[in-house]
Amino acid sequence: MEIPDDVLMLEVEGEGDRCDFCNRSDSWPGKDYACGEVKTGFVTFAPSVWAACGPCAKMIDAADWEALAQRAAESRNPEIRDLFLFQIRKTHQAVMKSRTGIQ
Ligand SMILES: [Zn+2]
Repeated sequence: MEIPDDVLMLEVEGEGDRCDFCNRSDSWPGKDYACGEVKTGFVTFAPSVWAACGPCAKMIDAADWEALAQRAAESRNPEIRDLFLFQIRKTHQAVMKSRTGIQ
């Protein structure tokens, strides 16, 4: 399966006041997760802190990865949602494996 470039960009578009998991900005405060290097197969992120909004933090702490992926996909274009889900599941798994602590 060929991955369009714009899907990859979705993974790195996070801004300072947006959740790194669902890309929303309306559910703070949340929680920060310190992570090491994250490799998704397509993109490598340097070690950093991933910020989660309140709802995402609850899903992360409950290890409810599918709910987290579905929430992240809700705001995406329906035409690429399935492809996005495929990629975001891999990204979330890589983030969780790289966790170095909770701040
Ligand atoms: Zn979120």
